[in-house]
Amino acid sequence: TERLNIIGGGMAGSEAAWQAVSMGVPVTIHEMRPHVGTFAHQTGDLAEMVCSNSFRSDDSEQNAVGLLHWEMRQAGGLIMEMADRHRLPAGGALAVDREAFAAAVTQRLRSHPLVEIAEGEITELPRDGQWIIATGPLTSGALAESIRAETGAEALAFFDAIAPIVHFDSIDLSKAWFQSRYDKGETEEERTAYLNCPMDKAQYDAFIDAILAADKTEFREGETAKYFDGCLPIEVMAERGRETLRHGPMKPVGLTNPHQPEIKAHAVVQLRRDNKLGTLFNIVGFQTKMKYGAQTEVFRLIPGLEDARFARLGGIHRNTFLNSPTLLDDQMRLRSRPNIRFAGQITGVEGYVESAGMGLLAGRLAACEMRGRTLPAPPDVTATGALVTHITGGADAKTFQPMNVNFGLFPPIDAKGGRRGRKDRYKAYTDRAKAAWSDWLDAATAPA
Ligand code: FAD
Repeated sequence: TERLNIIGGGMAGSEAAWQAVSMGVPVTIHEMRPHVGTFAHQTGDLAEMVCSNSFRSDDSEQNAVGLLHWEMRQAGGLIMEMADRHRLPAGGALAVDREAFAAAVTQRLRSHPLVEIAEGEITELPRDGQWIIATGPLTSGALAESIRAETGAEALAFFDAIAPIVHFDSIDLSKAWFQSRYDKGETEEERTAYLNCPMDKAQYDAFIDAILAADKTEFREGETAKYFDGCLPIEVMAERGRETLRHGPMKPVGLTNPHQPEIKAHAVVQLRRDNKLGTLFNIVGFQTKMKYGAQTEVFRLIPGLEDARFARLGGIHRNTFLNSPTLLDDQMRLRSRPNIRFAGQITGVEGYVESAGMGLLAGRLAACEMRGRTLPAPPDVTATGALVTHITGGADAKTFQPMNVNFGLFPPIDAKGGRRGRKDRYKAYTDRAKAAWSDWLDAATAPA
């Protein structure tokens, strides 16, 4: 039988391998560690957690990442099984004993009769056979160059400069308004692509002071600022001069505030629609290295964002990822080379759990295809389906940045203006997801 080749034995690659062998498809995992390392990994084990030891919330009724845990458990996921087995007490979060966890994943895969582990770096995009590339945010340089040669330089990023993303329903529309600068755009969709939050001089001054005073994360070695020309962190812009932001991303020109048409704003923060659903908006040009706590405080100073809920906060990190909306089909295959799938963080999801989730899906899709049938992608009302739909088409390709799972990626459950409270709404999202996920799993395992 044909083997499935997986490059990278991290969160995604390990889960993809497990799903495929569970469906009877033999797998070779190509892993470069311990011979070739990364700046973050410390061991030669598979599924090493490079930083925090948390899989975040385990609440599958009120939290999208908890829901993703639930879906992976239902699908017999290895990462979740071992995380549960090596769980540490941590309140509502799923924290794990990282060494025991990685050792257990490694042991389970190594001892499986259908798994072969080939040690060594893969330096070129493979030609023939069935492949999943799951080499993560720290994909080795040679392979990244080879991917870039196939996809084009624009389509593979080495860093992400993430602007914070806000849930639309938490923005105060009595202060903010829809308008594109100079009223550009023909269609209704284009005209509602931007939201604007005005500041007077006192508000702007207080905002700059807060940015300058905020706690920031230092750049790591190899993350030098030369990479960020054109996308400087806002605190660096503020340090260059108090007026810099007002002449940059916060310039007030070409905009009229319908709430106060007679007053010219001193500065304007613009938000841009981040997904087709219109449930998420990013703050334009606001990539930052401010610490998360500080970001929430500082951004809630923006008029209209006082009660903002953030789908994700800003950041700047070393991160190799594809422009998946243009490059991958809904089966996670490279459109130009359909024998190659991508999975994990390199597809533009963010986080251990999301990466494992995309590994789970890619492993199943590949194994099904190798057995001669097509498994449809899971419906977008599930956590796994919402993520894969976002990265393979729902996200705006022009501004595509890595994404955590969150309810903003799900099709809204209430018509606009629905009055359900947040708790009820999240419960409704997760109930709907669980039913759909169970149906999808049943259909996937039904005899052809
Ligand atoms: P990885 O788990 O990194 O696995 C990729 C594997 O591919 C690695 O084992 C690597 O050695 C191997 N590999 C790379 N290139 C090659 C090659 N050419 N040939 C063969 N093998 C190769 N997420 C969180 O949820 N919480 C955190 O605290 C967190 N902290 C992070 C800190 C840092 C510094 C980084 C870079 C990322 C962090 N992430 C975190 C984000 C991300 O979720 C994790 O990196 C996650 O491990 C990604 O899973 P993955 O399977 O896509 O990649």
